[in-house]
Order: sequence, then C-alpha cells, then structure tokens
Amino acid sequence: MSEYEVWFLTGSQGLYGPETLDQVAAQSGQIARELGATLDVKIVWKPVLTSAADILTTARQANDDDRVIGVIAWMHTFSPAKMWISGLDALRTPLLHLHTQANVELPWASIDMDFMNLNQAAHGDREFGYIEARLGVARKTVAGHVSDPRVTARINTWVRAARGYAAMRSLKLARFGDNMRDVAVTEGDKVEAQLRFGVSVNTYGVNDLVAVVDQIGDADIDKLVGEYHDLYQVADALKGDRHDSLRYAARIELGLRGFLEAGGFQAFTTNFEDLGGLRQLPGLAVQRLMADGYGFGGEGDWKTSVLLHTLKAMAPGGTSFMEDYTYDLTPGDERILGAHMLEVCPSIAAGQPRLEIHPLGIGGREDPVRMVFDAAPGPAVVVGLTDMGERFRLVANEIEVVPPSEPLPKLPVARAVWKPAPDFSTSTEAWLTAGGPHHTVLSSAVGTEELTDLAEMLATELLVIDGNTSIRQFAKEVRWNQAYYRLARGF
Ligand code: MN
Repeated sequence: MSEYEVWFLTGSQGLYGPETLDQVAAQSGQIARELGATLDVKIVWKPVLTSAADILTTARQANDDDRVIGVIAWMHTFSPAKMWISGLDALRTPLLHLHTQANVELPWASIDMDFMNLNQAAHGDREFGYIEARLGVARKTVAGHVSDPRVTARINTWVRAARGYAAMRSLKLARFGDNMRDVAVTEGDKVEAQLRFGVSVNTYGVNDLVAVVDQIGDADIDKLVGEYHDLYQVADALKGDRHDSLRYAARIELGLRGFLEAGGFQAFTTNFEDLGGLRQLPGLAVQRLMADGYGFGGEGDWKTSVLLHTLKAMAPGGTSFMEDYTYDLTPGDERILGAHMLEVCPSIAAGQPRLEIHPLGIGGREDPVRMVFDAAPGPAVVVGLTDMGERFRLVANEIEVVPPSEPLPKLPVARAVWKPAPDFSTSTEAWLTAGGPHHTVLSSAVGTEELTDLAEMLATELLVIDGNTSIRQFAKEVRWNQAYYRLARGF
C-alpha cells in the first residue's frame, strides 16, 4: 500500500502573470502537504497546469504509472475548462474534484481585488464541474477546507476505494473446480468482468493443487502446526487421536499458499463437489489465507472472491466471506445468522478462535478442521455482486453485528449475528427485490461511502439498503436503474 501515490493537480491560467502563478503554486503546495499529512496515501504535488498540452501529458502519465491510484484536481483560480477536455477525456485514473480554497476565513478588513483574483475557486471549480459533467467524467466531488476533518475523512474514503480499484485492475483469481452444479447466482461473465473490473479469472484442475499439497514436507508441517498452537485454542481431539487431521489441514494450507504465490494469485475459489484427491474440504487454510488478504468464494463463487480481495485491499480490519444462513424472527428483534460451511475469516472474530474438527455433511471427504468463533459486535456492511446478464450489480446493506443471544455450543462453524438496517423485513425484501446474492462480503473496515466511490470508479450499479430505505422507493430505484444502465452502456 505504501508505494501507492495520488497526484495533486492544480488548475490556473497565464492571464494573471507569473507573480500570481507563484502564489498559486505556493498555496496549492501547502494544501497538498496538508493532505499528505492526513491521508493514508502519498500525495505528490504537480506543477500548476495552465495549458491543454500539459494537462493531457499529465493525464497520460497518471494512466501509465501503476503507482498512481488517483488524481485530485483543484481549480485554484479561474482555469478555462476547454483546456481540460482532452486531458479529462484521456484520464483513466480515478478522479476526485476537490472544491476548496487556501484560506479559511475571509480577511474582511483587507480584502481587495488582488485577493479576489487569486482566490476564486468558487467559480473556477464551477467551470471545471461543468466540463466534468459535460464529458460525463466519473468522479467524486468533495467541498470544504482541508483543515476540516470531515473533508479529509471523505477524501480518505475515496483513497481507500481507489486502492480497491487498483487491486482489482491487477487481480488474478484461481478457481479450483468450476461452479457448484445448478447454482445460478454464483455464475457470471468472466469476459465482462475482465473488461469492466480488470480481473483475470481462470480455472485449474483441483488435482493440480493436490500435486502441490502432496509434496509438502513434514518439517514445514511441524512448524505450521506449532504456529496453530501459538495462535489458537486447539481442541483436545486435534492434539490426540485426530492430530493427523490437523497436520493434513496444515498441509493443505502450505500447498494452497504455495500454489497461489507461485501463480501470482490474490484470490481463489473452491467447490466441495470437486475436491479431487484432497482428503478434506479446505477450511482452516481458507480462513487463514483470507486473514492474509486473499479473496475467497465458496462453491466456485469467483465474484464474491473478487469482491472480498478488493475490500481487503481497501482497508485493513475485519472483512470476511459470509453467507446469509438462517433467521431469528422474534418480532421486533429479528436477526440474521450468517456463517458458511467452514470459511469465515478470523479478522472479524471477537476473541481467540478455537481450532475444532467436526464432520461435514456434504462433499464426501474426511472431517475438516476449522476455526470457530463469534464475530465482533459493531457497525458493518454486507455487500454482494451479481451478474444481471448485461451488466454487474452491487447490493449493500448497512448492518449492526450483535452478540449471539446465547452461546452456540453445538454450532461447529464461525458465525456472525446481525441486525440489518433499516429493519429485517425492509432489508430482506429490498435485497430480494434487487436479486442480491446469498454469498456476501461482511466488513467492519469499509462502509457505504467507500463502496459508493468504488462503484463510481467501476461505472457499476450499487444499490444501498440503509436506515433511509423504503421498499416503495427502492423498487423504483431498481426499475429506474435498469433503464439508466441500459442507456448508459450504449451500443
Ligand atoms: Mn455457500
């Protein structure tokens, strides 16, 4: 993350003379330094732009430099926007339009026309906003002084989204086996995904993975099992007569990690229907790889795997693969219990995970080892990605993760319990209206604003279910969006 840059571009023009342009440069340099001190990314100030040729060159340089995940533009003075047309048209790097000025308070007693001419972003940025709107440039607009934490917080959400976008553009995903048979929502158009998101999704025979797993040496397994004992509460059975199962789980982790590293993959999927020579469905291995930032989706669900890696690249913290499983429908206190067969990321755990072994009713293999824990309470979001046939759709729901009402001693998987906003029936009716998937990414590290910024960068629909959602309005939004996205795509 630390090698990423955001460029700070300042617009002006030659009309004011070199003295004014020197002041513009000094003030914009100061703004860039203030941003650099508060944002989670390196800010690189660029010399003030006053010509179409320089603007186009700068846009092309930003596009071509993999370190540059975004550009921030501010029209310090009045920068005639026709000089920005070619540059903005060429720009493929996410854009944030910062509407600010150097001073906070007006110097009421001393203000004169020199001050007015120097500090006229109020109309310079309007000229710029016009040409952005005219060209239909994807962007986030943030207004306010950079000393205001609300302003920098909103720029930081965009920086996180830009980080996710950059991660997507270089994401390679390995699928072990294909899709779970007959399942619709986990299918999708991998060609369109590569065009739209930049992700490369390819399938490998699961026995290609087995070949690597089988070659792992005992000394490496000894070491990793030792690490498990240091990090987790290990069930007695795994120390005793089921110890070989724990060693085999470690073997899967080492093999899977090695396969992914050798191929440069940052995300993967498995399918319990297609395990080849694997003796266990990978559980513990998947959980630990997710904790290290890998994307994962069960049952061949590459879309959720892509989304998981993207959100993990956006911000450190609690982010996991999740599945809506079952409900507590106590009137007025309805909650959703989310989990998966095995694969929930320990980054969302409330306490130290326990390593346990239990039978798995499906897959027809040996009992798999898994981490078991409850998710930490607090605000979070669940987000899913579906393929609507002609395009992709993101659906997000703001939620509150809550502690389970009682201990769950017989549930042998990691789980999260949450209350969805605005309430259970509105949330689930909206989710079903949108055709949202049962696999999601649950995150307490990324929120609705980051997802909104990411969707803008991806030119992809995002439907948000939050405290303000009403079914009537939501259903209309879905319908209007269908028309908008069909028109926006063109021919
Ligand atoms: Mn599933």
